[in-house]
Amino acid sequence: MPKERSNSPLQPPGFAKATPGKPALSSSKGLQPGRLFVISGPSGVGKSTISQAVAAQTDAMLSISATTRPPRGDERDGRDYYFVDVPAFRRMIEQGKLLEWAEVFGNYYGTPADAVESALAAGRTVFLTIDVQGGIQVAARRPAAVGILIVPPSQAELRRRLAGRATEGAEVLEKRLAKANQELTLARESGAYCYQVINDNLDAAVQRVAVIVEEEKQRHDRSAQT
Ligand code: ADP
Ligand code: 5GP
Repeated sequence: MPKERSNSPLQPPGFAKATPGKPALSSSKGLQPGRLFVISGPSGVGKSTISQAVAAQTDAMLSISATTRPPRGDERDGRDYYFVDVPAFRRMIEQGKLLEWAEVFGNYYGTPADAVESALAAGRTVFLTIDVQGGIQVAARRPAAVGILIVPPSQAELRRRLAGRATEGAEVLEKRLAKANQELTLARESGAYCYQVINDNLDAAVQRVAVIVEEEKQRHDRSAQT
């Protein structure tokens, strides 16, 4: 990641196409390392709802991101996000504590690396529910990560979901909708997502993601035995 000067605007790492990089983590305890899944898609598509439902059915750990966005609704620090200010976020970048990070809708978001690495080393499945810019960085750094792109059935339905969630004002909602198509195009062109799941019926989408996770875990187990 680039070194930051303390007063410069934060510049996230570039978004090169996913290329082979560092190999998957190996465990310090001789355990087989867990599998890393990146779940991305436009804001309001249902990523959090789906990841939480699939994690609840399995032993998967949901990574908790750091963000400079203020908490909304009943969000709690350490449960939904680690809410930090910009200088603290900058320090996390400088100290190499983030697996990936990006500016999204005017705020910074990043995945603390330590928690993810120790869960993987302990053999756990880990879900990152992050934007596409971050997903592309993870694919480059951890080529064994499995990218799942969640897609809305239509733009009109995406608008209904974002409006129904009622967490954003009108202006922010429009910004999020405007970015949706760009994000889907970037994701498809990046090569970082090998699965695409349309979130039309929620139960069906949860089931589809759960099957992908199970199949990828089994594939991983089989390849470790050969
Ligand atoms: P994201 O994490 O992608 O921003 P959320 O998980 O917060 O999106 O979902 C946005 C809103 O859409 C929430 O109110 C959620 O309950 C709703 N939602 C999610 N999936 C569906 C679905 N398949 N059908 C209808 N509403 C949905
Ligand atoms: P929200 O403000 O709705 O919680 O999140 C806005 C966007 O930021 C969503 O697309 C969400 O997936 C993404 N996001 C959340 N955490 C992270 C993170 O750690 N890294 C990146 N790159 N994006 C994140």
